[in-house]
Amino acid sequence: MAFPESVVTAAWSRAGGASPPNPAMCECKQTTHDHSFVRCRKPLEWANRGKECSGAWEAHHLKSPKEDSALNCGIYCWKCHKSK
Ligand SMILES: [Zn+2]
Ligand SMILES: [Zn+2]
Repeated sequence: MAFPESVVTAAWSRAGGASPPNPAMCECKQTTHDHSFVRCRKPLEWANRGKECSGAWEAHHLKSPKEDSALNCGIYCWKCHKSK
């Protein structure tokens, strides 16, 4: 499943407070991760989607893997995207 670009753009704008290519912050709040109960907030660069470098991120399905709406789309840093 893949999110349409319009959905990713909307989710990114929510995560960063401004539309791309302005920077955003990781939205992850999963309690099992290092950041624990607070939002991760790792700074992300629009150009670094899918890369494994600083500022890397990916659009993450929050609940249903089949739903490609902005509500189901989390902007996650690479580490959070790969962690369970
Ligand atoms: Zn993160
Ligand atoms: Zn996380």
